[in-house]
Amino acid sequence: MPLPPIAPLDDDLERHLVSTREATIEQLLELVRIPSVSSLPEHAADMVRTADWLAGQLRWRGAEDVKVVKTALHPIVTGRIHKTPGAPTVIVYCHYDVQPVDPLDLWESTPFEPFVRDGRMVGRGTSDDKGQIHAHVMAAAGLLATRGAMPINVRYVFEGEEESSSVHLDAWLEANRDRLSADVAIISDSGFFEGNIPAITLSLRGIMYAQIDVVGTDVDLHSGGYGGVVQNPANAIAQIIAGLKGPDGRIRIPGFYDDVAALPDEDRAALAALPFDEGEYLARLGLPTLVGETGYTTLERRAIRPTLDVNGIWGGFMGEGSKTIIPAHAHAKVSCRLVANQEPDTIFEALRAYVGEIAPPGVTTTVRYIGGGHPSLTPMDHPATRAAARALEATFGQPPVYIREGGSIPVCASFSTILGLPVVLLGITPPDDNAHAPNEWMDLGNYETGIRTFARMFDELVDLPR
Ligand SMILES: [Zn+2]
Repeated sequence: MPLPPIAPLDDDLERHLVSTREATIEQLLELVRIPSVSSLPEHAADMVRTADWLAGQLRWRGAEDVKVVKTALHPIVTGRIHKTPGAPTVIVYCHYDVQPVDPLDLWESTPFEPFVRDGRMVGRGTSDDKGQIHAHVMAAAGLLATRGAMPINVRYVFEGEEESSSVHLDAWLEANRDRLSADVAIISDSGFFEGNIPAITLSLRGIMYAQIDVVGTDVDLHSGGYGGVVQNPANAIAQIIAGLKGPDGRIRIPGFYDDVAALPDEDRAALAALPFDEGEYLARLGLPTLVGETGYTTLERRAIRPTLDVNGIWGGFMGEGSKTIIPAHAHAKVSCRLVANQEPDTIFEALRAYVGEIAPPGVTTTVRYIGGGHPSLTPMDHPATRAAARALEATFGQPPVYIREGGSIPVCASFSTILGLPVVLLGITPPDDNAHAPNEWMDLGNYETGIRTFARMFDELVDLPR
């Protein structure tokens, strides 16, 4: 996509960031030293300490209305920097909790005693997500110190439960919908593309998860005595599953594709331009060939097309040797990865209706909903995506590539469905950062340039249509 010429970096901000460099990195070390593991109850006090630390930073830098909001588990840190009622408002989301550290013996240091070597900071949370949360705080600090104001309104939402399924975030967003009215949400919890190429994640898939239960008799029957006259639940569930998808990879549920957003040519071209070696991909999987919906490339099938997969199937005799029965019941877990603008509830109802239609007679078939999550998509040509792209190019010296994830980041859907906001996934971590694994590390080049990227993004968002 052709972008307008890039304005030079802000000299005052640049001087400020260079002169405060060591203190900045010292502070990131301080933040990483607090062991904020959200999933382990013994770290509850560390969670509060981290939240207080961040709130202190925001207050010190000049944010207003800074609060450490209690939830039933870990607090949410929020605060705002107000510019003017006429300017756009951005919500910045990051999380301050981290993953557990085991296996400890694979770390080359103590996970919460971070160190810097060869331009990398190693320690739990350096990249996921403390390096990014801190880069945001320092971007605000730099702008306020050099200009005395932000170019736009910013509201921070720093969560403490992201690594624990964000259990209490949705309720808090819903309860604070008015206070959180904004024009866009920037989520900084993602990373660059292979080779450390700046990247913006444009879309994530949602999910619909269901279970199919087929019940025949109360107990297993003798297959000699009853075979040939009663419906076999295991055969029946196989028949149902076989009916869900055609040999062309298309899902046969009527209406399944009705809401799928068409992908503009520009987006398909950007996806096709991503470096991807299908031979290497196959070799890594150890598979003879790939399969999927006809008419779409591998990258398209795994990111922008919906899917249907059986995640588990069971019933009847599963021991060694033989047992001649007709199973009393059989079951399958089935999930669909969804793309914009598919609704999990609608897809579930369509699945249930279709299974009801194709279920063979002689058994009782039910389909129940287990869970769902919304897909998320902000188009490439959205003004906020373009602002983020310009900020990356201005600071990292090259335009970003555009990634589409096959998986989900539930908080994205929370911001888009609860607050109705476009979401831009602007993250700065290196792709091989060992997030969630031993020896997690942050590239300090990414972190320091990332501070400039975030600051620049606010400048780029000044003209965001409201
Ligand atoms: Zn994260």
